[in-house]
Amino acid sequence: MIMKPFLSDFDLKTGATNEKVTSRYAENMKGMFADDAALEELVKSGNSKIYDFTEMGFEEVMQDLLYGTSITYPGKVGNEYFMTKGHFHTILDTAEVYYCLSGEGYMLMETPEGEWAAEKLSAGKAVYVPARWAHRSINTGNTPLITFFCFRADAGHDYGTIETKGFRKLIVEQDGKPVIIDNPKWRSE
Ligand code: MN
Repeated sequence: MIMKPFLSDFDLKTGATNEKVTSRYAENMKGMFADDAALEELVKSGNSKIYDFTEMGFEEVMQDLLYGTSITYPGKVGNEYFMTKGHFHTILDTAEVYYCLSGEGYMLMETPEGEWAAEKLSAGKAVYVPARWAHRSINTGNTPLITFFCFRADAGHDYGTIETKGFRKLIVEQDGKPVIIDNPKWRSE
């Protein structure tokens, strides 16, 4: 079924919306950060919320677009900033746009062939995620990183590839600043 015109509300400060919200806590992020022991500590000491995202909840057909907000909270696991799991699209040849409403951070991206890119996000910046590029939001600031995203409704989410292999690069804090380093846990298989 193709959607009819409708409006959604988004709170510009918090990213909150009337759409369905999915939350990922520290316990939902096992294996995603370089420092497994630091994550385990975080789970035990209150299981911080790492990020939220909203979902439209309508049928996923190629004629439609899905949109919503992604809210990555400030914090670190060891010296690695809070981030989303990140994903490829199941239909790899589909792109996406993220528009930053507030906060500071990066969109980390990579292709299956090993190209990578990290674009800096701050309020008013839009990042274009081309078809074939996996993408992950990383909050390097002290306030929630809130982005509005939009992509082809039938694209689907492949989380498994990143859960298994990780991204080739990490963004960690060194001397109080974000630095991009090789992921020691990355594997090609
Ligand atoms: Mn996506």
